[in-house]
Amino acid sequence: MTAAMSAPPLIELGAPVLGDAEKEALAEVIDGGWITMGERVRRFESLFAQLHGVPDAIAVHSATAALQLIMDAFDFGPGDEVLVPSLSFVATASVVVQAGATPVFVDVESGRLPHLSLADARARITPHSRAIIVMHFGGYGMDMAAWRALADEHGLVLVEDAAHAAGLAGTVGTASDAAAFSFFTNKNMTTAEGGMIIIPDRERAERARRLRAHGMTASTLDRDRGRAVGYDVVEVGHNYRMDELRGALGLVQLPRLEGWNTRRRELTAHYRAELAAELPGVHVPFDAAWPTTAHLLPALLPEGTDRAAVMARMRDGQVQTSVHYPAIHRFSAYRAAYGARELPHTDAFCASELTLPLHPQLTEPDVTRVVRTLREALSGKDIS
Ligand SMILES: *Cc1c(COP(=O)(O)O)cnc(C)c1O
Repeated sequence: MTAAMSAPPLIELGAPVLGDAEKEALAEVIDGGWITMGERVRRFESLFAQLHGVPDAIAVHSATAALQLIMDAFDFGPGDEVLVPSLSFVATASVVVQAGATPVFVDVESGRLPHLSLADARARITPHSRAIIVMHFGGYGMDMAAWRALADEHGLVLVEDAAHAAGLAGTVGTASDAAAFSFFTNKNMTTAEGGMIIIPDRERAERARRLRAHGMTASTLDRDRGRAVGYDVVEVGHNYRMDELRGALGLVQLPRLEGWNTRRRELTAHYRAELAAELPGVHVPFDAAWPTTAHLLPALLPEGTDRAAVMARMRDGQVQTSVHYPAIHRFSAYRAAYGARELPHTDAFCASELTLPLHPQLTEPDVTRVVRTLREALSGKDIS
């Protein structure tokens, strides 16, 4: 590259959509004087529930906190085995460990279908199994009826890690016993940090709600407003509350979620078409008809590709890429504690997966540039 040529603009892997509406919403909270959990968080919970066709939801400060509260609300602990994907973010398994239970890693179906394998899950069920956590990889909806049937057959609690799947109404939050959502910065909608829980059973949901704030029977707001004078602590809980600043961000972002997810699906269709035409050796898992929030654009590189070199060349071409995910069972902390496990499909997927940029502000010409950059990176050419 010569000095006269300027670098093309950076194409980011993901980027939150934030603007004046978010700034105004935050200023309004500050001017209002009540910044911790209050009416905005409550309204955000109601609207989130409504979008997913369920009666209620519980806002928390992250999906990790959401999953931890679910572990507690269902009393998972020592002696319990919880089936989990290894192809996920580490939080899906760490919450099980923190509860004192044992994560049992389950393989995925295949590279083309990187969802948890029903057959492998069935094979790993023991008399100690208590629950299954499924994860809607990339926002592609799992077959929840099949998982419900397996859970019922063995008396297991069915939990969804729906961190990628906010807005996938009809699939998430209705067939399981509990679902956890994330509003971290790189998810399909954001409150910077933030999460949500859906638990259909009213009593369990109330328990999770109480555990969110120290197991207390009255909230800070209730006490501030004189609606409650004292409180009891009925069990040992956490402080996993969401605050009003985040609630206000959620109220601005939520009504835009469906539009953003639609745009992500359009861009995914464009990627599929361009990749099929330009790079037939690169595969995008699932298929164009699959219900999805299109959270990620995972691509499987041809066998034998030096992925690190491809990523470095794409970086030189001003295109960010990532890997979703390094398998959890391969992390040293997990290998040491739970031993080596045979997860051949997960290992193969993790070795060849490359995540390409996908976010609502991407354009079709950006997608074309990403695919062209990938083609040059795969052919080993320097990109200039
Ligand atoms: C992001 C993510 C989480 C954790 O979400 P936080 O809100 O950051 O705690 C958990 N599981 C998956 C699959 C995720 O992508």
